[in-house]
Amino acid sequence: MNDGTKNTVQTTSSEEIEEPPSKLSYKVTDYYYSRFKDHPQINKTFLPDDRGNIVLSCESGDHLGEEKQSPVENLGNDWHWQIKNSITTLEDISKHLVLTDEEKNFFKSKQQFKFRITPYYLDLIKKNPNSPIRKSLIPNNAEFNISNGESIDPLGEDSDTCIPNLIKRYPDRVLYIATDFCSANCRYCCRSRLVGHEKYKDNFPEILEYLNTHSEIRDVIVSGGDPMTLSDKRLDFILSRLYAIPHIQIIRIGTKVPVVLPQRITTNLLNILNKFWDKLFINIHFIHEDEISLDTKNACLKLARLGIPLGSQTVLLKGINDNIESMKKLVQKLLSCKVIPRYLYQMDKIQGGDHFRTSIEKGIEIIKGIQGFTSGMCCPKYVVDSHYGKIPIDIGSVRKKENGVYVLRNYEGKETEYREWFLRQG
Ligand code: SF4
Repeated sequence: MNDGTKNTVQTTSSEEIEEPPSKLSYKVTDYYYSRFKDHPQINKTFLPDDRGNIVLSCESGDHLGEEKQSPVENLGNDWHWQIKNSITTLEDISKHLVLTDEEKNFFKSKQQFKFRITPYYLDLIKKNPNSPIRKSLIPNNAEFNISNGESIDPLGEDSDTCIPNLIKRYPDRVLYIATDFCSANCRYCCRSRLVGHEKYKDNFPEILEYLNTHSEIRDVIVSGGDPMTLSDKRLDFILSRLYAIPHIQIIRIGTKVPVVLPQRITTNLLNILNKFWDKLFINIHFIHEDEISLDTKNACLKLARLGIPLGSQTVLLKGINDNIESMKKLVQKLLSCKVIPRYLYQMDKIQGGDHFRTSIEKGIEIIKGIQGFTSGMCCPKYVVDSHYGKIPIDIGSVRKKENGVYVLRNYEGKETEYREWFLRQG
């Protein structure tokens, strides 16, 4: 496995460093080793334990000072318990929240897209029943209103499916649907035609055969459903097989698990991801700052420690995050979790999603209200996803272009000219 670094010290014995003999080989740069070998937490990220594992253990809050809190105590810290005890019925949710008539009415009609929420995320809502995040997972009967142009497959993914569970829309990358299960069902999901339907048929050998014989594919997005809800063994198997294909340079995992099920980021999972870290990227689905609890922050920081770049994807949602202040707080908090805000999506034309949809003007207004007013790293790209892929929305920075002269407008509305070099030559 290549760790992507130069000038590394590679060792498999205790001669070079005073640690118990390891079954695994491991690598660490001179600089990193000399700086952190005595650090009680960081050295766990590169020195093996007495069983030869790179431990990467970090209990909730242990590197963030005394503050330790979890919305769900005891058993709630077990991700299997969280999934087993997820809330899926009107009867169960009514024990926890006082539902509105619109919310109750959802359960009385025939549901296309099932309701599911983890006890952990429900606790976040219970702390503040008026929080905007309630609307993202607690359904209401507005979902039954279908508007013109809406579809159960708004991005035309079915027509871009080259073999079952593999979507190819771009020249050099594919999206692999590894499961149809999510630990919580977002009400605006663009894959609600698949998620939670329990009809998933595994064809991973066929997928591998396709990928092995298509050397133009350099980037695989492992998505779903949520692939992080797969067992450790299954995830390890999938990642190891993808990792072994030489022309696959990038493996991206798309997930909402650190947000709705942060307990899933276990030491064992971190050890698995660590094996593939140099090809891995993780994109996490956040919608609101209220989702960033200490548990979620810790889950992200543990992943970031592996050296895996973290990005976020956010859907612009009416009544949830469709204002500048809310979005700014979200993107600023994401950076503190080592997550780079990558995309702000215009809400897809998913069937029954009109109550979530804003105008594109609203999205432009929000991006303009962030860009320049806070760190550039915080500013996501605003895109409309379509049958033809993601299309970035121009926020009007180029005011005019004439004879090689650009009139550009900055975040404060001030205008300046940029003249292309060849004009000066003439
Ligand atoms: S996590 Fe993603 S795939 Fe799962 S329900 Fe939410 S939007 Fe859909």
